[in-house]
Amino acid sequence: RVSLVLFTSDLRLYDHPPLRAALTSADAVVPLFVRDPAVAAAGFATPNRNAFLADCLADLDAGLRERGGRLVVRSGELVEEVCRAAREADADEVHLSAAHSRFATRREERLRRALESDGRRLYVHDAVTVVVPPGEVTPAGSDHFAVFTPYLRRWTQVRLRPATGAPRRVHVPDHVRGEPLPARGAVPGVSPALPAGGESEGRRRVTAYWRGGLDAYDEVRDDLAADATSKLSAHLHFGTLSPVELVHLARRRGGAGAEALVRQLAWRDFHRQVLAARPDAAHTDYRTRHDHWRTEDSAREDIEAWRQGRTGYPVIDAAMRQLRHEGWMHNRARLLAASFLSKTLYVDWRIGAAHFLHWLVDGDVANNQLNWQWVAGTGTDTRPNRVLNPVTQAKKYDPDGAYVHRWVPELRDLAAPTVHEPWRLQGFDRAALDYPDPVVELSEGLERFRRARTGP
Ligand code: FAD
Repeated sequence: RVSLVLFTSDLRLYDHPPLRAALTSADAVVPLFVRDPAVAAAGFATPNRNAFLADCLADLDAGLRERGGRLVVRSGELVEEVCRAAREADADEVHLSAAHSRFATRREERLRRALESDGRRLYVHDAVTVVVPPGEVTPAGSDHFAVFTPYLRRWTQVRLRPATGAPRRVHVPDHVRGEPLPARGAVPGVSPALPAGGESEGRRRVTAYWRGGLDAYDEVRDDLAADATSKLSAHLHFGTLSPVELVHLARRRGGAGAEALVRQLAWRDFHRQVLAARPDAAHTDYRTRHDHWRTEDSAREDIEAWRQGRTGYPVIDAAMRQLRHEGWMHNRARLLAASFLSKTLYVDWRIGAAHFLHWLVDGDVANNQLNWQWVAGTGTDTRPNRVLNPVTQAKKYDPDGAYVHRWVPELRDLAAPTVHEPWRLQGFDRAALDYPDPVVELSEGLERFRRARTGP
């Protein structure tokens, strides 16, 4: 008997329930990955994520080869390719991880129908890309939690399935052919310091972080210069790491750092259960606040200054330049950059979210769009009108100015706290700086936001 495993956002061999189930029920499996042009057409396949994906596929293929198998990669419309491969292999079962976006759930439904009309069965496995699947915990009278703290309480009580190891042997039928793997080198427009992808790299990162950073995570996670968060987000996005396995590992370790990391993983699930219940929240306000956002037409120069990291607010500019250079941004910096665009400049959060989604290697519809909504005050934040001040926040989370020095070389010679307020310099000192004046006065931005949010 042959089974087919369709890899999507779960590009790993460890703790992979669909692969495990397929190997249990069949003697041979077809590990398939489909490069679907619809993913590119929907804007998800950006240079940074394509490059990271190439690493993930190469590593998955290498891991399968070590076990006697190989990855079968094909290009084309996903449903058609899966059906074709299943027919060629005469596979009677297809195994797949559950996905939670509208795009993926619709595709899953089409796949189920197509396979069934061909006499094959689709098995969808839950808790592969999330810890607690959407809908598993719900508040009375609603299909999802809108507030994080009560969600976390219930999420913490869920009994998790055990994490499993990687299979020892994987036999792939010889006659099912694929195409060459995409090469990372062939992807133009990639950030110069994009991290490497792949399960092996992800597992190395976990080992290193558990040795060196996890225990202090809670204390340093907001420190911009320390740059001491786990950097596992892209691995979680592509599923090279299992979130269930990470929670088990963290709970076994214990302590404030591990607990805080588990809480962040709960945030990840929280946004997914919101998106699963409200797929429209990827683009429309979760809570309508009757905003009259500034847009590309009315705020073109401000938006471009923000995108380029030339707003005149050093911490914002540092953040936006880190994004382009690494394809990643520190969480505190994401909060500040998003608050600045949506509240201080009062620009539509969708414009900022699209820019982030283009550059972020961890760019993810649930996490990105719903964090943007949270910051813009249209989402699940219970204090939707709070505005983060980029100067006081910079002094608090980058007290020595090291984060700004790293990313804004024009300001490298300025000591803190002046480095966070270069406009305070006088005469020749100011004139000698090749750095823009602020695009807006903070008080002016705040006034505009308050007027707009509360009405005249
Ligand atoms: P750590 O601090 O080490 O956290 C561990 C893991 O927990 C992360 O890898 C991530 O999977 C999860 N996590 C942490 N914080 C959050 C959060 N607030 N919401 C959801 N999950 C979280 N994260 C993405 O993965 N993809 C995105 O596209 C994304 N866009 C964001 C946009 C904005 C405006 C903001 C404010 C946050 C966004 N985040 C996004 C959440 C967070 O900033 C990143 O997950 C985090 O910075 C990744 O770095 P890390 O792996 O070192 O995180």
